[in-house]
Amino acid sequence: MTASDSRRHRDPERLPKENRKDDSGAFEVDVLVSPSPDDTDSEAFGREEVELVRRQYLESEHRFRALLESLPKVAVQGYDHDRRVIYWNEGSTRLYGYTAEEAQGQLLEDLIIPAFMRQGVIEAHSAWIRDGVEIPADELELKHKSGELVSVFSQHLMLNEHTDSPLMFCVDVDLSDQKRAHRDLEFATRFDRLTHLPNRQTLEVDLDSLLESCRRQGNGLAMLYLDIDHFVEINDALGYDQGDRLLIELARRLRECQRVTDLVSRVSSDEFVLAFPGVHLEPDVRRVVRHVQNVFREPFVLDGRERQVTACLGVALFPENGETSRELIRNADVAKNRAKLDGRGGLRFFQQKLHDELVRQHYLSARLEEALDNGEFCLHYQPQVSAASGRIENLEALIRWQPAEGPPISPAEFIPLAERSGLIHRLGDWVIEEACRQQVQWRARGFLDHRIDINVSGRQLVRPGALQGFEDSLKRHGLGPRDIGIELTENVLIEADETVLEDLRRLYHHGIRIAIDDFGTGYSSLSYLKHFPVTALKIDRSFIHDAPAQPKDRAIMEGAIFIGHRLGLEVVAEGVENAEQLTLLREMHCDLVQGFFFYRPMPANEIDRLLAGFVPCHEGLSS
Ligand code: C2E
Ligand code: MG
Ligand code: MG
Repeated sequence: MTASDSRRHRDPERLPKENRKDDSGAFEVDVLVSPSPDDTDSEAFGREEVELVRRQYLESEHRFRALLESLPKVAVQGYDHDRRVIYWNEGSTRLYGYTAEEAQGQLLEDLIIPAFMRQGVIEAHSAWIRDGVEIPADELELKHKSGELVSVFSQHLMLNEHTDSPLMFCVDVDLSDQKRAHRDLEFATRFDRLTHLPNRQTLEVDLDSLLESCRRQGNGLAMLYLDIDHFVEINDALGYDQGDRLLIELARRLRECQRVTDLVSRVSSDEFVLAFPGVHLEPDVRRVVRHVQNVFREPFVLDGRERQVTACLGVALFPENGETSRELIRNADVAKNRAKLDGRGGLRFFQQKLHDELVRQHYLSARLEEALDNGEFCLHYQPQVSAASGRIENLEALIRWQPAEGPPISPAEFIPLAERSGLIHRLGDWVIEEACRQQVQWRARGFLDHRIDINVSGRQLVRPGALQGFEDSLKRHGLGPRDIGIELTENVLIEADETVLEDLRRLYHHGIRIAIDDFGTGYSSLSYLKHFPVTALKIDRSFIHDAPAQPKDRAIMEGAIFIGHRLGLEVVAEGVENAEQLTLLREMHCDLVQGFFFYRPMPANEIDRLLAGFVPCHEGLSS
């Protein structure tokens, strides 16, 4: 309705003198209709003309009524001078719950005005009638018959303003849908849809105000960053709905160990952050950590089966590990990432050292690929000698990274990084090529006896056809099973899938040497040995190191050598550093020994001299 329309409709000359009930009992709303029948009731018109105009009037009124009734979300009510209902359309019934019969004659303020607005509405209505002060359109919350509030956009119109019978019409549009959509949107932006926990943004805001009050009260705060172990595998193996189930149940359990003042938030897919204000002293922090760890003691029922789930935890403390929410969350995350490296269920407290370590790892990861392109890697070789004869039998190829600037970087540091970034595939291919190339060169120079063993990491085998690629490389260089062998750790074998095992069996049948590296540090059961196609065991250097002094290590070493021999495997001792260890190994009939006591890993040109006999055999082996 335009402003001029509204003025026209308020013209007292064009308005009815009274409001009548029609036959159905509803109130006629002839106020908006012109021409008025009274104007036509004159001598100048004949009966027919009067009848015509009346019909037109009735049609017009019906159209108007039909219009009002056909707008389900637009509620129109008319009120008389005393604010009693004289018109109530179907939309009003839908919106406020009263039928037209129930509403008729009732006071506006008794029907739909909440108690706190009552006086204001009465006064505003009188002011309009008395002084012409309009009630402006507004968003309001009015009362439904049930007592609940309904959101509406309400516009008001006064007819017959300057007469004894002013009529106020209210046109209310139902805003519930918009309000709900708005609330949903607000929820979606602040909370996690799945677990209904606050999301990261909300956590940051809430945490900042929590930190502010901690600061005022001189309190500390403990923050825990939680990351479910192997969540991707749960998702992959059981499906997303079971993954979701786990998250919902975990959120429920975490909420249970929350005090009113604590915060719990889901910050990303399988990561949760908890903040405990007032928890700062070591025993208190340990207590909340235990609390959270206990959440995982009960198994989770997934896919109809009970499953034990674990998570890694990182802890950061306010104020020493961060002053702002961002800093604290980041540092708890850093501690958590460090805990991840310790394996399932790891727990770490933030230390600046951890952070520096991660920064360095990030830097090295970024540099690795470039280093490979720049030829900064080379292979060193460490001889494995026969414990009995001292003869060099094998050379273990160990990768070295010598950056163009700065000190060399240990493979123990960069191999895990390359595994995580996926660069291990390129790096592994390079090692195979380089070892093959070197072996071809040594063979050409008449060094025919030794074999080179290369280390193959678990991640390398994830790539389909990795071992086939290895065999292809051997062929391409004209090499065979006596030339190059491989070393794998126990866990690689345990976690290998059937296709990898199939490839390993093929290598085994082709006579390629397959050694289990770091034997004794990974899997705890020996029975797996009979299932896997391996030819040698390399006892981890930790046992060798402690064997002379520690009866238990000695027993494990002896047991491993014994079992290895019974299974027809060659047994190698790693990390032999002194004569005492060597004597022990000889007594136990270990086949091969490798370690600093004999040779350190060395570049190919030094191995050249060794193989050519320019370097005398180690004195420890002469006896
Ligand atoms: P590993 O395969 O168990 O290699 C033996 C490690 O023990 C080598 O460390 C070697 O230098 C060291 N070592 C040998 N004798 C002694 C000794 O008497 N005492 C002590 N304390 N240590 C000794 P390195 O070269 O730093 O390699 C560390 C690990 O990095 C290797 O452990 C292997 O797992 C991995 N690695 C090395 N080169 C490669 C590679 O080309 N590919 C892959 N995937 N991993 C590699
Ligand atoms: Mg090795
Ligand atoms: Mg080893």
